Amino acid sequence: MPESPVSHHARQMTDDEGGMPEQQQAPPGLTAAMDPVPDHGEASWEGHGRLEGLKALITGGDSGIGRAVAIAFAREGADVAINYLPEEDEDAHDVAGWIEKAGRTAVLVPGDLREEQACEDIVARAVEGLGGLNIVVNNAGFHWARGEEGLKGLAAEDLERAVRTNLYGTLWISRAALKHLGRGDCIINTTSVQAYDPSVSMIDYAATKAALNNVTANLAAELGPEGIRVNAVAPGPVWTPLQPATKEPEAVAAMGKNTPLGRIAQPAELAGAYVFLASPAEASYVSGTVVGVTGGLPVF
Ligand code: NAD
Ligand code: MG
Repeated sequence: MPESPVSHHARQMTDDEGGMPEQQQAPPGLTAAMDPVPDHGEASWEGHGRLEGLKALITGGDSGIGRAVAIAFAREGADVAINYLPEEDEDAHDVAGWIEKAGRTAVLVPGDLREEQACEDIVARAVEGLGGLNIVVNNAGFHWARGEEGLKGLAAEDLERAVRTNLYGTLWISRAALKHLGRGDCIINTTSVQAYDPSVSMIDYAATKAALNNVTANLAAELGPEGIRVNAVAPGPVWTPLQPATKEPEAVAAMGKNTPLGRIAQPAELAGAYVFLASPAEASYVSGTVVGVTGGLPVF
């Protein structure tokens, strides 16, 4: 039997005060360069057939939360396509290995979500490789933390990258997916605790996440009559490459200490929310809502 209590394992990976070692990478960041390497449920996730025979596309599925969701979905019986940036090829191939080890089909669709046509192509290639599409997880995201500089430190380039990746990417991927989704299928967006309690250092990012909450409610209204459910997960602080790639080392080390549970999450601890929302049986009447996985920070 694999070891199951992920949170116990996760606590062991943090220091006595709940923090991580100071470290830094360049965006988008890679998994192997992280110390410690995150826990994506490789040794712990047990499938129960909850997504048997379904086909899923996960953006940003190479690393972090997306990787944990890809592993859990495959073990629950889904074939999985992952999108990522070309420079993350190494991470993507590791994930494909885990999906195949679960006995499912893995489809790799690199591409930049900031481009409308790329989003169309990503969905088309995913559908071709999977032979259909039932679940879309909009998980890719970008932020750039500017310390306490706040608005004065906001550069056009960072704003553009955050809005295009997080908001445009989610809308374009969802629009391209619509013609393939039917009754019982679903879309899951990834927002953030930042949508509810924004940090001064991430005004643009927090705004995109608040916008994605709004998009989730709106799309749930539009697609409900077709039997398609739309929900979101709002993570709190999670140990993923995004953090050392976009924050100062001291800020990385402090992540999670402000939560009631007193520590940062491992990506594996996020997967359950996505599996629940994706499950046609368990979440059959769940749409238009946001599930917080925040270590106790409020999402209302
Ligand atoms: P991550 O770095 O592992 O994943 C983010 C992924 O986004 C990258 O792997 C990359 O493939 C993808 N991406 C970024 N820009 C892209 C682009 N232009 N085109 C295609 N793909 C692109 O980090 P993560 O923390 O797992 O992030 C996943 C999601 O979780 C993001 O939406 C993030 O905003 C959200 N989130 C993370 C935290 C956290 O503390 N880690 C907290 C709240 C929300
Ligand atoms: Mg990555």
